[in-house]
Amino acid sequence: MFGGFGHAARKSDNTKYYGVLGVPKSASADELKKAYKKAAIKNHPDKGGDPEKFKELGQAYEVLSDPEKREIYDEYGEDGLKEGAGGGSTSHNPFDLFETFLNPRYRSHVRRQKQGEDVVHTLKVSLEDLYNGTTKKLSLSRNILCTKCKGKGSKSGNSGRCYGCQGTGMKITTRSIGLGMIQQMQHICPECQGSGEVISERDKCPPCKGKKITQEKKVMDVHVEKGMEHGEKILFEGQADEAPDTITGDIVFVLQLKEHAKFKRKFDDLYVEHTLNLTEALCGFQFALTHLDGRQLLVKSNPGEVIKPGQSKAINDEGMPHHQRPFIKGKLYIHFNVEFPDSGILSPHQSQMLQTVLDPRHSKKLTDMELDKCEETTLHDVNIEDEMRRKPRQQYREAYDEDDEDDEESMPRVQCAQQ
Ligand SMILES: [Zn+2]
Ligand SMILES: [Zn+2]
Repeated sequence: MFGGFGHAARKSDNTKYYGVLGVPKSASADELKKAYKKAAIKNHPDKGGDPEKFKELGQAYEVLSDPEKREIYDEYGEDGLKEGAGGGSTSHNPFDLFETFLNPRYRSHVRRQKQGEDVVHTLKVSLEDLYNGTTKKLSLSRNILCTKCKGKGSKSGNSGRCYGCQGTGMKITTRSIGLGMIQQMQHICPECQGSGEVISERDKCPPCKGKKITQEKKVMDVHVEKGMEHGEKILFEGQADEAPDTITGDIVFVLQLKEHAKFKRKFDDLYVEHTLNLTEALCGFQFALTHLDGRQLLVKSNPGEVIKPGQSKAINDEGMPHHQRPFIKGKLYIHFNVEFPDSGILSPHQSQMLQTVLDPRHSKKLTDMELDKCEETTLHDVNIEDEMRRKPRQQYREAYDEDDEDDEESMPRVQCAQQ
């Protein structure tokens, strides 16, 4: 079977493994077993044994206890196993090997206990929810192990071994890939879907029809704590879909903040915009601001204070509560816009009066001489945001880059536009 590559392999040491276990080359499977057990218990690192020696024992026993691998080893030594034929990997964990040896159910237990998937849900929350904290009731349906048969799938609690895979859940097929090399392929047994067992039609549990799982509707209380953030996760450990021989995954709720009409949040701070008319900006203002918990905050200017367009002010301790320390709060920033009166609202006389009130030195008039040196221009109304959208920055940059080959005039135009 493996003769094809014999000419390529050197004759190498094929006695070492027997030496490690302290048995003759002619040892029977039973003798190997006894020798391994005795030596492995004696050298187990848990009992103060040498880990290297323990690993060597495992390696030797793994090969010699497998008739196929033993045959290769006897013929070609360790090199024969390394050279791939027969899938002779000896990289198994020596502790797993030992546990399996003592308790043959151990391996299948380890292999079949899969990690179940987490179920992730998005949970929409308002800024009010995050400010005040809240509990959301959510109804979810999930798979659970059938309570009638306790996840066995059968009335009797028994199940038969799948013939297709001899109960391993996996099927191994081998095929020759030339030069005497054999390739092994492992796949999930199609007859039992990897469970390794079959349940007879008559014995199937009625509620789950032998599928071992049923659906459950569940109402969950999701506690959204004060100060939680957009994107934060709330975990329900081990409450996702149940499945046989599976460690149940988690249900994860990811908070998604709905945009607020008035308040914006940045970490523990809140931002709000407020528009004053020119009179309020110049002569003082007061207004009530409804906070996220419904409280009315009185916001007012100091006597004699003038608010400029774009100016910001802050109120301490009226921002968001800090998560897990909700008595600590950030700042509430107020950004002021100033709305100017429309054209034509002032008569020439009123305009004159205003000039005497406001500092007269500010209204600067050009002399006739200065006027003579100027060119007349016309100012047009523009919406600067629209203008900028129409001429994305990219274009300016390109015009700038091409400048040395292009016409010289594009340079000053660029500078004008950016001023
Ligand atoms: Zn059932
Ligand atoms: Zn099967």
